[in-house]
Amino acid sequence: MASIQVAKSLSLIHNLWRNSSKIRSLATTPTLLPLNLPRRLCSVRAKSDEEAAAKVAAANADSGGPTIFDKIISKEIPSTIVYEDEKVLAFRDINPQAPVHVLVIPKLRDGLTQLGKAEPRHVDILGHLFYAAKIVAEKEGILDGFRVVINNGPTACQSVYHLHLHVLGGRQLKWPPG
Ligand code: AMP
Repeated sequence: MASIQVAKSLSLIHNLWRNSSKIRSLATTPTLLPLNLPRRLCSVRAKSDEEAAAKVAAANADSGGPTIFDKIISKEIPSTIVYEDEKVLAFRDINPQAPVHVLVIPKLRDGLTQLGKAEPRHVDILGHLFYAAKIVAEKEGILDGFRVVINNGPTACQSVYHLHLHVLGGRQLKWPPG
C-alpha cells in the first residue's frame, strides 16, 4: 500500500515537472508566442527585423543608385523640414525614437553613402552637417541635452546609404545605447 502511494507521488511529481518544462519551452519559442507578446520579446523580434533590413540595404549600398533621401531632397516625397540651407537638409524622421528625432543630410551625396567612406574632400561638408545638427537642436529647444548618432554599416543597422546624422532629444536618453 505504501509503495503504491510512493509511486503515485512520483508520477505526480514527474507530470508537474514535464508540464512546467513544456510551459517554459512555449514561453521561449517565438513562433508559438501568443499575440500579446511581452514588450521585451517584441523588441527582440523588431531588432532582428532591423538587422535583416540593414543587411539587405548594405548589399545595395555601393550600387550608387538613388535612395529615398534623394526623393526627399527633390521634394518628390514629402517630409517635415526643420532646417535647410544650400548644402544640407534636416527633416523629421518618419519613425521617431525620441520626441525630437531629426535627420540631417548633405544635399549632394558625393560618395558619402556612409561615414566610413569619408575622404579628405568631405571635411567641409562633415563640419557643415555637425553645425547644422547644432542649429536643429537649438531650433527644437533641446540644446541642453541631445544626442547625434551616425549608424555606419550593417552591424550598426544603417538602412539608408546616404550619410545622415540622427539628432535625438526631448527625453532622458539612456547609455549605453543598444
Ligand atoms: P539609418 O537606419 O541610420 O540608416 O536611418 C535611416 C532613417 O531614415 C531611419 O531612422 C528611418 O526611420 C528614416 N526614414 C526612412 N524613410 C524616411 C522618410 N521617408 N522620411 C523620414 N525618415 C525616413
